[in-house]
Amino acid sequence: MSKKIVIVGALGYLGSELCKLYSGESWFNKIVAIDSRFVSERVSQLKDWNIEFHQGHILDKEFIKTNLGDADIVHHLAGITDVAYVKKESNIDKDEEIKKIAIEGTNNILDIIPQKCKIIFPSTHVIFEGLKEMKKNIDENESPCPILAYSSSKVQNEKDIKNSGNNYVILRLGSVYGYSSTDTMRINIMPNLFSKIASQNGTINLFSGGQQIKSLVPLTDVVRFMKLMGDNNKINREIFNLTKETVTVKEVAEICKKFNPKTTIKITEDETPNPGYSLSNKKLLNTGFKFFYSLEESISTMIKQWSYKQNNFDLEYKSRGEKEFVDKRGKIINYELTEPINLIGYIESIRGSMRANHYHPVQEQKVLLVKGQFISIYKSLLSKNSPKITHVINEGDSVVTKPNVAHTMVFTKDSIFLNLVRGEREHENYGITHTLPYSLVSDNEKKELLKNYKFDCRSCGGLNLKRVVSLGYQPLANNLLKSKNQEDEMFPLEMNYCSDCHNCQLSVVVDPKKMFSNYLYLSSTSKTFREHFEKAAKKYVKEFKLSPNKSYIIDVGSNDGVALKPFQNLKFKNILGIEPAKNLAKAANKEKIKTYNGFLDKESLKKIKKNADLVLASNVFAHSDDLKTMAECMFKLIKKDGTIIIEIQYLLNTLKDLTFDNIYHEHYNYWSLTSLITFFNHFGGKIFRAEKIDTHGGSLRIYVKKNPKTKVEKNVSELLKKEEKFGIKNYKVYQDFSRKVYNIRDNVRKNISNLKKNNNKIIGYGSPAKATTALNFFGISNEIDFIVEDNKLKQGKFLPGMKIPIISKEFLKQKADYSLVLAWNFFNEIKKKNVDLAHKFISIKDLEI
Ligand SMILES: [Zn+2]
Repeated sequence: MSKKIVIVGALGYLGSELCKLYSGESWFNKIVAIDSRFVSERVSQLKDWNIEFHQGHILDKEFIKTNLGDADIVHHLAGITDVAYVKKESNIDKDEEIKKIAIEGTNNILDIIPQKCKIIFPSTHVIFEGLKEMKKNIDENESPCPILAYSSSKVQNEKDIKNSGNNYVILRLGSVYGYSSTDTMRINIMPNLFSKIASQNGTINLFSGGQQIKSLVPLTDVVRFMKLMGDNNKINREIFNLTKETVTVKEVAEICKKFNPKTTIKITEDETPNPGYSLSNKKLLNTGFKFFYSLEESISTMIKQWSYKQNNFDLEYKSRGEKEFVDKRGKIINYELTEPINLIGYIESIRGSMRANHYHPVQEQKVLLVKGQFISIYKSLLSKNSPKITHVINEGDSVVTKPNVAHTMVFTKDSIFLNLVRGEREHENYGITHTLPYSLVSDNEKKELLKNYKFDCRSCGGLNLKRVVSLGYQPLANNLLKSKNQEDEMFPLEMNYCSDCHNCQLSVVVDPKKMFSNYLYLSSTSKTFREHFEKAAKKYVKEFKLSPNKSYIIDVGSNDGVALKPFQNLKFKNILGIEPAKNLAKAANKEKIKTYNGFLDKESLKKIKKNADLVLASNVFAHSDDLKTMAECMFKLIKKDGTIIIEIQYLLNTLKDLTFDNIYHEHYNYWSLTSLITFFNHFGGKIFRAEKIDTHGGSLRIYVKKNPKTKVEKNVSELLKKEEKFGIKNYKVYQDFSRKVYNIRDNVRKNISNLKKNNNKIIGYGSPAKATTALNFFGISNEIDFIVEDNKLKQGKFLPGMKIPIISKEFLKQKADYSLVLAWNFFNEIKKKNVDLAHKFISIKDLEI
């Protein structure tokens, strides 16, 4: 026989979930849903489930009569749930309303439903809020002691239901938790609130140390038990405590932290106002009921559900499909979207073409690249100084771009992508509603990108390059401007990580001729460098038993001869520098240090005398896009048992010390010992010694021989172990680096505007390449009046991008308030020599915190 089952308050947190359970039953029982609200999305959902919906209020007797007059089962969930939890938050008017709806409304229902009708009514554990001491395992016979309006009215409801003569089941619910797919969440419930905070890496505040105990119960199990009580003819006129876990508030916070370790828990040690209480569920379990869900599971789900949509801070987010399924027929991969879509655009694009150059003010853009490849360029329009970022989208990638992010696609292959849209994309509305033009990439820039972008690893040729950090579009760091009006050439400055060989490298190749043909950086200017190379020369002479008459030493990328000078001083006759910068080669030759002007490549190799005992390469090994040729040439320059000694900036230091300003276009590569070993293995070369040295804020010196059987020293394996432990092979370490670098940017911008507050005069000191990277990334220009520089070649010029004048210190007429030392690795040297220039010396590094 068919029954009529009415759910009152059907659109709420419990009601929605309960309706879902009844959806399967609506084909043989009549299910009616009632609510005082009308939420169209949920009502149409009810229709799909074959559930009747009627909008109306439980205070409206006529309405109740029409809909409940012939009910067999009533789930009475109506009532105000947005209630005060502590006395000081309650107010008389609201209390009156709560009581009126609860008591009068319930009595209306009780008056109208037929005698045979069974009423299922959720009461609450809060009816024991008046307990003075902690009490555990309260059973169903305990006398309630309500204080506030909400619990008082629940106690009254319980009495009225018991006295009505109807069949009933009253459920004293613990705090109901859990993600609801149908209703907007009840966020004021403690486990839900904590999960929401945790999903956003937030801070959970625990008052009184979170010692209060609470009885909790999962949403899904609550509605399961309610339906069970409706179905069950034998259980009548009973009260059940419907609770599952009893935990302290602190324990709930700790579970949240377990699922998202980035959650902070803050404990205050004030006095516990109410130690809490717990309800026993013994009677409930005796019915044979089994809980399906657990607190840990629910919290984990909630954190996941919320963070999926909101935890993704990337402006543009690239991902691969998941849950791959492969069999003989082929492959299935799933892509989870952030929201439902209603339109799919199918778009073909020809190699070399460009699309977009626009943004969507409201819509999120979702693209699935089915075939081909494109470079995506994007920039947030919400803040003024946001950098322009690029990355490669490969076949099978999905890419989600947030609203108000200008974006452009440059196709590097013939491509097909699907545009997955929520909302409209009418062509006639282009430029009016969904899409607004924004000129992000010019035709010329497109050409440069197509020419310069690097899709495979420079070291191993692998294709698995992942983004480490983007410092935006930047000018070439050492190409100082002759005048303020001169245009900078800008290129993306972005570091990628090769997950095959662990080398880090830039995403683009800039023509080396643009950077190295006229080089303004004179190594000999720095006392630190002069001393460094003097020490090194003496060490090599001793260890490799070099003799001034017989030994032959080559320095690749010899600059002004700074590394060879000490050998010259030791009367070495056979020394040769190789230097592409004309001005530097000329300067070295003038000093009688024989220098070949050119790049080290196959062509120049013919002109250079071979059989060297030592080939030195200091800070040039990072400077090559065509590494293989360079390494091959170096091997051809040494004699059979000769040694190559390479100094490079050490990636581990860059990552650890956050010296992101070591990243500039000249440095194509960022090495670790791990990646260097893989690289030299290709040539059969053997790294037999590795030393850490302190130039450039932390460098690595490696010794290489041709003979693969060369005995390897212990320091190699030791350093490798250290790198592994640091996480050199773990992409997450690189992502953390990126996040921290962006934090630094925020801090510096904040700190410099503080320094500037009283119209303080700030000058910079030193214009090394790292200053160009840092200032351009931070977007600092007008804040600094001048940059003082000792290198005469740089004086009178302008810092690229930010166009700050570079001057000699004689030019300064008045003492500045602050001297911001941009060549921060020479801070002490600079401060000591220039105390007259400013009242205070600050290293730019000090602004990073
Ligand atoms: Zn690689």
